Amino acid sequence: MHEVSVMAGIVEAVLKHLENYDVEKVEEVHLTIGELTNLGADQMVFAYEIVTRGTALEGSQLVIEPEAIAVSCRSCGYQGEVDYVENEEFHNSIPVLSCPRCQGSVDVVSGKSCTVRSMRVVER
Ligand SMILES: [Zn+2]
Repeated sequence: MHEVSVMAGIVEAVLKHLENYDVEKVEEVHLTIGELTNLGADQMVFAYEIVTRGTALEGSQLVIEPEAIAVSCRSCGYQGEVDYVENEEFHNSIPVLSCPRCQGSVDVVSGKSCTVRSMRVVER
């Protein structure tokens, strides 16, 4: 499962970060997941439970905040969200990565990252 290896990297980074603080317990870890990462929220929570077992993060809660896709158009300067097409077979919507205004090429400015936004910890 792709999510487990991604999560292992995240948890490793968080644990390393926590070494700098005198932390008694971690209550929550807030993770932002971009819509373009193809990481499933449920799978990420599941992976978190597996990966944090036996670490300082065991028992803490992973809070997932989705990050919408935002683009910047190279032709007309449009900035903002993209259009979606409905996929009836899979009952989801698929983002269209072109400019909703002029159909030009766009740069993705948001929605590609998977980052730890904040944590709630109990200090000793
Ligand atoms: Zn445009």
